[in-house]
Amino acid sequence: MRLIFLGPPGVGKGTQAALLSEQYQIPHIATGDILRAAMANKTPVGLEAKSYIDAGKLVPDDVIINIVRERLKESDTKSGYILDGFPRTIKQAEALAKTLEQSGEKIDRVLYFELAEEELVKRIAGRRSCPACQKIYHTIFNPPPQEGICTCGTALIQRKDDRPETVKERLTVYRTETAPLIQYYKEQGLLSQIDADSRVDEVTRRVQDAVFQKSS
Ligand code: AMP
Repeated sequence: MRLIFLGPPGVGKGTQAALLSEQYQIPHIATGDILRAAMANKTPVGLEAKSYIDAGKLVPDDVIINIVRERLKESDTKSGYILDGFPRTIKQAEALAKTLEQSGEKIDRVLYFELAEEELVKRIAGRRSCPACQKIYHTIFNPPPQEGICTCGTALIQRKDDRPETVKERLTVYRTETAPLIQYYKEQGLLSQIDADSRVDEVTRRVQDAVFQKSS
């Protein structure tokens, strides 16, 4: 099962992808997580990506396409994966299609998560992440058992790009660069729309319905 999770920042894609990844035992490939790990390790890619990420801009297509191509060569992707945060431009989607075509594979379903912008801003403002295991919390909707601390014991942080000034730019970038993918995948008959304006468990149920419909 090869899935793409598409939607604006803060919609809950990462939370849902982590849950589904565990249920189906397929890797959750989040390009944002890969880039943040590269930044933390100060690799050449991480150093290049930092200025884009901190400004709420997209990392250049070539950089991200190479990262995903390499990741998809790893053996754990053989029975499928969830792509979260990729593709984010039409150019990335076309590069992915080409890579898959070369190996005779295809995307099974694209889940498009939808939520009003004022709700997105609220969700992002309360989002806290674990810099060690990448687990995501929300101060109100999904708090950790111990305030400010991940279940793995690490202190939670607010991502620099989750601060209000940067969020505005990320939403603009989403509307101009990423939203055209909705039509792109709709035309290919791959899109399932998920109303993300509910509790985590209810959205999970909708995700499972969309994926199950496809696989049954
Ligand atoms: P995310 O964790 O998905 O919100 O991604 C955080 C940041 O990483 C984005 O705002 C971009 O700067 C960068 N990024 C992640 N995925 C991509 C992508 N597919 N294309 C370009 N930039 C990306």
